[in-house]
Amino acid sequence: MSKFWSPLAASLVPYVPGEQPKDKKYVKLNTNENPYPPSPAALEAMADAVNGDLRLYPDPTADELVRAAADYCGLSPAQTFVGNGSDEVLAFAFAAFFDPAKPVLFPDITYSFYKVYATLYGLSPKLIPLDDEFHIPLEQFAGEHGGIIMPNPNAPTAQLLALEEIRDLLERNPDNVVIIDEAYIDFGGESAASLVPEYPNLLVVQTLSKSRSLAGLRVGLAFGSEELIDGLNRIKNSFNSYTMDRVALRGAVASLRDEAYFRETTAKVVATRERVTEQVLGLGFRATDSKANFLFISHPRFPASELFAKLRERGVLVRYFNSPRIDNYLRVSVGTDEEMDMFLAALKGIVSD
Ligand SMILES: *Cc1c(COP(=O)(O)O)cnc(C)c1O
Repeated sequence: MSKFWSPLAASLVPYVPGEQPKDKKYVKLNTNENPYPPSPAALEAMADAVNGDLRLYPDPTADELVRAAADYCGLSPAQTFVGNGSDEVLAFAFAAFFDPAKPVLFPDITYSFYKVYATLYGLSPKLIPLDDEFHIPLEQFAGEHGGIIMPNPNAPTAQLLALEEIRDLLERNPDNVVIIDEAYIDFGGESAASLVPEYPNLLVVQTLSKSRSLAGLRVGLAFGSEELIDGLNRIKNSFNSYTMDRVALRGAVASLRDEAYFRETTAKVVATRERVTEQVLGLGFRATDSKANFLFISHPRFPASELFAKLRERGVLVRYFNSPRIDNYLRVSVGTDEEMDMFLAALKGIVSD
């Protein structure tokens, strides 16, 4: 607490990202980063963008990237928005679409940034509890409220909603914006971006951080009706005209156009996920049906907090959430096959002790 902080700054409970340790080299499976490098075409485009033109401001409307993202989803540039990571896109969306006079609905177990944004913007969240199997009770996202947000697949449970379930949710809530955060959709789900032409209340948010291996570049995308995209641009242009730098713009365009590399690396992550899931089940773990690039696992005899600490001692970093209902689970990002073999070896050592 400082006397120099505004009442707003004093009231916040900021998001705590997964640790990026500097003490030694870990097998790092704690922040859902992609183990494979970005598309070589993206790296080349970025290297090419590092030149004297950096003295100039970037394109404030990011036209080329907006067009590449729109093409990728089969939508128009007017239905497309880009931002400095999807966290920024989400922050703009909270400000643009959610009514502070009414509760904003999201699952009780979900991406913890939502609660942080709700506080930042003076919104009152209403948390809808997942059932015991961690399924989202979609029928409870209804009635009088100020908007809905959820990830699909959900994080950290990794479970996927079918496109038809999203459609029902949109049908039931025509007067509110429904944000579907598709950070992990490329690892086994079907994007709701195809529903954008039908539902003016749908905003789909995606990121290049996970499936495109560009967490370090900070690029997020959003797809929605023209009126929603206009709303996002109103917030963005009241905040920062140049959210996307020249290097990010070039890298992101090249990444979105390199479909073959994207398919190849996401397929590798999915294959590794399936193999590792089978192995952890063999060790007596329970695992949710993951359609993301991470596993969400729990052991009936070994507390997750203990497994977390012992894995860390053995040089394997995973994510442990000390929060109600999920404090006996570990979230384990899918790394390379080699990294996952090290994880499995460490896990075997611990549970056979
Ligand atoms: C990783 C993640 C994000 C943030 O992605 P960035 O584009 O890196 O900001 C957003 N939502 C969910 C659910 C995530 O897991």
